[in-house]
Amino acid sequence: MITTQFQVDVPSWVATAVAATGGFLPSLDDRMALAIHLAERNFRDGGGGPFAAIVVERSSGRIISAGVNRVLASNLSVSHAEVVALSLAQCRLGTWDLGAKPGAPTELVVNWRPCLQCCGAVLWSGISHLVIPDDSDELERLTGFDEGPVPADWVEQFERRGVAVTRGVQLPEALRVFRDFSEWVDQGRAVVYNARGTGVNVGRGTPASESGAADSG
Ligand SMILES: [Zn+2]
Repeated sequence: MITTQFQVDVPSWVATAVAATGGFLPSLDDRMALAIHLAERNFRDGGGGPFAAIVVERSSGRIISAGVNRVLASNLSVSHAEVVALSLAQCRLGTWDLGAKPGAPTELVVNWRPCLQCCGAVLWSGISHLVIPDDSDELERLTGFDEGPVPADWVEQFERRGVAVTRGVQLPEALRVFRDFSEWVDQGRAVVYNARGTGVNVGRGTPASESGAADSG
């Protein structure tokens, strides 16, 4: 028999962390701080990479969902933090369009720029704002994850489709978590599940000219 369904769960500590905020995060800094906190807890917990995302009502800061990367725990390569958070928000609101409610724009807060896969996931989600620490190559340099061939003009492409992009939120703390993650990789305590080159953990630091592509998220 073939398999006819699949499922992704987030650990209970995700909901506990959201509840500890009171359910509302008025400032972008506070929203990103939660995403970064979840990302750090996630890689130390072993269920996936150092990535987390939350969906909020932009104006009120009400938290609609929170997701973490679950690639390792679920054995599903698509279960990046953005996909998990967007899917949980859509389940909660009962719609595939997170922009469906008039006057209530939704925002996705992620602890780095979405990878190639998640750029598509964000664009089709109905989200109208994306908030990230940065979109430089620092993530790939520090961790060895490959983000895929994201277009250089991705911000322009997003904004052309009605998704505003805010960069520069909590960058030092985001980079601190990636550095801590890379230390764990060096110690053999964490896995770069889709490292450059082969799609398995081939370690960090492979020059781009010698490698192929995989992804992160
Ligand atoms: Zn991704």
